[in-house]
Amino acid sequence: MNVVIAKTKAHYNSITETSLCDCSYCRNYRLQVKSVFPKVAEYLYSLGIDIEKPFETSPLDPDENGMLEYCCCQYIAFGNCEPNYHHRIGNVEFRMATSYPRTGIEQEHFVLEFYPIKLEFDEGV
Ligand SMILES: [Zn+2]
Repeated sequence: MNVVIAKTKAHYNSITETSLCDCSYCRNYRLQVKSVFPKVAEYLYSLGIDIEKPFETSPLDPDENGMLEYCCCQYIAFGNCEPNYHHRIGNVEFRMATSYPRTGIEQEHFVLEFYPIKLEFDEGV
């Protein structure tokens, strides 16, 4: 994996709070993910990625214990990535995403994804 960290950082710095998805699943994710998965946040940070600004998350339905699983959390990174890239932190698996919404970015980039992320879900966030 060859991430252009400065460019990736600049990209995340340019994402404003108001441009992020405002649904309760996404807000729930942004509020908790850094403190519940500090090692994942640190790894992303080392690549220039801000964990609180995902490109896309895929929440499943909350379970009977009020836990909500996000099955693929996707992040844009500038640079390139070998298709068989794999990384693991605890039970969280990282890979290069092959299916994601249009990024609209012209420069060389790829989408990094990881899963599963499980968080408590508070309907009222
Ligand atoms: Zn959302």
